Amino acid sequence: MTTTLHPSIPFLDLQAQYRSIKDEVDAAVASVLASAHFVLGPEVDAFETEFAAYCESAHCIGVNSGTSALHLALLAAGVGPGDEVVTVSHTFVATVAAIRYTGASPVFVDVRADSSTMDPEQLERVITPRTRAVIPVHLYGQCADMDPICEIARAHGLVVVEDAAQAHGAFYRGRRAGSIGEMACFSFYPGKNLGAYGEGGAVVTSDPELAARIRVLRDHGQTRKYQHEVLGYNHRLEALQAAVLRVKLRRLDGWNADRRRVADAYRRNLQGAGVRLAHDMAYGEPVHHVFPIFTPDRERLRVELAESGIAASIHYPIPVHMQPAFADLGLGAGALPVSERLAAETLSLPMYPELDEEDVRRVAGAVRRLSARG
Ligand SMILES: *Cc1c(COP(=O)(O)O)cnc(C)c1O
Repeated sequence: MTTTLHPSIPFLDLQAQYRSIKDEVDAAVASVLASAHFVLGPEVDAFETEFAAYCESAHCIGVNSGTSALHLALLAAGVGPGDEVVTVSHTFVATVAAIRYTGASPVFVDVRADSSTMDPEQLERVITPRTRAVIPVHLYGQCADMDPICEIARAHGLVVVEDAAQAHGAFYRGRRAGSIGEMACFSFYPGKNLGAYGEGGAVVTSDPELAARIRVLRDHGQTRKYQHEVLGYNHRLEALQAAVLRVKLRRLDGWNADRRRVADAYRRNLQGAGVRLAHDMAYGEPVHHVFPIFTPDRERLRVELAESGIAASIHYPIPVHMQPAFADLGLGAGALPVSERLAAETLSLPMYPELDEEDVRRVAGAVRRLSARG
């Protein structure tokens, strides 16, 4: 163990964020408690209106997680048993699990090494008569290349569902993440760029029929109280979470700008450090949910950074197609070479809006020193 003279640098610091908004959050929570309206209701309605506007979209349906958002979006699109949904394996497992929940089969395309997102050039060749939808994932806060993906989807009559769980506020060719596909799914898990104080998620869409279907599905299939038209779910958003999210939404653009400042500082300080950095694609403006670096020596670097008091994380160490839960898909090692290489080499450095320039220099300095030694 190396002893450190510095305080340790966490991977993210939600306590610092809470201190900066404590008075407003505490008042918002107290007002929900006093109202005793805890599930859906006026706070959720208000948040839905504000978040739809933020995403430059017409409708937002608040749900209890990003995973539920994906599940309901696919159901609203009519996806079910016998259907295929195309997505990527280099993502959080929920993207693929949601496809399975509907009874449909996930079909993978590889990602591009520069953007870490869906390679549009591989999309067309996996489409079959059973393909119903495609889920590009805006990984690390950077949008997938949506124009060619939407163009191919449109030509084949496929619904495009954006997995925007890591991309609140990102832009693609001047358009907000969430306003590009037929539907987009967000997660408000605490560590996301817009995080609740518990679980939360949303589907955003400009299609009023899809929005109406999702509203029914999230609330036991009710069209009015105790009138159950379809088999629905209890996937409702809580008022306490909506109240917290409304306070935080007002600060999201500022926090995303702070993340950009941190990312720029990492870039300056990591030049020539012997690790590959993620490429910011010219087509958009990422929101740096995480700041990944790539090195074949990832495991050693992660351990040695931890010994220097720096907490790095991995997004994600095992691609979904190689997880035991998806072994029945029959896709072992070698099926998706770029996804597999990224999973083996990626390491996410500390990234949060409150990280200051000195912390960034310390992290980058440690990466530089440790990777030179390897
Ligand atoms: C977080 C995340 C999800 C799932 O969201 P939960 O709110 O945790 O259910 C889905 N997809 C991606 C890419 C995510 O990062």
